[in-house]
Amino acid sequence: MTKRLWIETVGCQMNVLDSELVVAALRRRGWEPAGSPAEADAVFYNTCSVRQHAEDKVYSALGRVRLEKAKRPELVVGVLGCMAQKDQDLIRTRAPWVDLVVGPGQLHRVPALVDDVLAGSGPRIEVSLDRTAGSRDAVARSFESYDPDRDPTMRPTPFQAFVRTQTGCDKFCAFCVVPKVRGPEQARPPEAIFAEASKLVAEGCREITLIGQTVNSYSWKDGGRTTRLSDLLVGLDAIDGLDRIRFVTNYPRDMTDDLVQAVRDLPKVCHYLHVPAQHGSDAVLKRMKRGYTIGEYLEMHARVREAIPHAAVTSDFIVGYCGETDEEFAATVELVRRLQFKNSFIFKYSPRPGTKAFERLPDDVPEAVKRERNRVLLEAQAEASLAGNAGFVATRQRVLVEGLSPREEKAASREENAVAGVEAAPDRQADRVRQLAGRTMCDRIVVFDGPERLIGRILDVDVIAAGSWTLSGVLPNLDHAEP
Ligand code: SF4
Repeated sequence: MTKRLWIETVGCQMNVLDSELVVAALRRRGWEPAGSPAEADAVFYNTCSVRQHAEDKVYSALGRVRLEKAKRPELVVGVLGCMAQKDQDLIRTRAPWVDLVVGPGQLHRVPALVDDVLAGSGPRIEVSLDRTAGSRDAVARSFESYDPDRDPTMRPTPFQAFVRTQTGCDKFCAFCVVPKVRGPEQARPPEAIFAEASKLVAEGCREITLIGQTVNSYSWKDGGRTTRLSDLLVGLDAIDGLDRIRFVTNYPRDMTDDLVQAVRDLPKVCHYLHVPAQHGSDAVLKRMKRGYTIGEYLEMHARVREAIPHAAVTSDFIVGYCGETDEEFAATVELVRRLQFKNSFIFKYSPRPGTKAFERLPDDVPEAVKRERNRVLLEAQAEASLAGNAGFVATRQRVLVEGLSPREEKAASREENAVAGVEAAPDRQADRVRQLAGRTMCDRIVVFDGPERLIGRILDVDVIAAGSWTLSGVLPNLDHAEP
């Protein structure tokens, strides 16, 4: 009988890709997706350790699945990813009903481990070496990159895909647990990246997002030649059938001229640069061990703006970091106002065991102050985003239609519940006009009304209004749509 699996994913694009690959590997062995944990023969949680909140969510989910496991002891329960690497045995101490604990460097073993558990091996914990447990090479070898062949049906959309350029990180920012749980930075060979991209395009993929913890640190040495991210972009830009190339996340100091020029000159590369500043104060950046000053960040930003005036630059910020004073926080607000980021992801500082900040700096900003600073910074960013988006009103933008808008998604799921089992004919469904959402070359989200069959196409949209987070548009003429 077909076995069914359920997977919940928390965290970044790396985890989204890892989950896609794990599910594809199990499907190749005959497993099929389940509709809910209650219908599944195996339940996996692909986890994130970047904030405490993400870990708490997983432990709550494990608490819920415990009842299911009590009813059906043969149910396989697995914790995958960063939390598995960080907490290891602790996961089974807190949740002894977990059968599998598998770190991000061991995901290729999941299918075999599931077989072992089903065959009665008992619980299995498979993690990579701790960063201090051996030489860099030995630790790196214990984190295996996991990039098997892709299954197009497993991607959220068939026309978009993530491609990994490297694993791990060597920057060791004081607040961040990633270098510990994802191991040393290891680049994939350029040929493997090009081959994967070509295969994805042959399967109908139009947009590829290169992902790495610090994607612009990419460096592959072969004999006397070094391949950098800009070289990867040149190679990808030449692939027939590929329309758009994006890359995340960038490290400010590695935003080199060759990369900025590649973004400016290569027609398929989106003018979108996510370059987290993390803070606006030099003193805090130093406590964060970020490795640059605000002056250097501003210089990088000015170079980008000069080369690509309309590029969308986005950032991450941490508020309430150890010892953050009112003046230091004000410097972050000032930076957001000055650089007018397209948007920023703003997080309240969450101390992470295993990091330098956790070991050496007190988490001394009260929660209420963190909350208030979070609110103030969100407000400043919303103003900046609105001002930036307002400049797009009355312009025509080239948009890749990604799917239904969030509002329409909700309506669609309500309808599904109301008429479960009654399906519209596929062509009538495709012609139905709904609110669609797409993305411009500079990462602006545009919502507009159009038939569902436009999803996956690239077309012109006239922007008629702007909010902080989205643009509203209308289709000028369906003849503008590309096939
Ligand atoms: S660059 Fe810093 S914040 Fe980003 S993953 Fe590496 S250690 Fe973490």
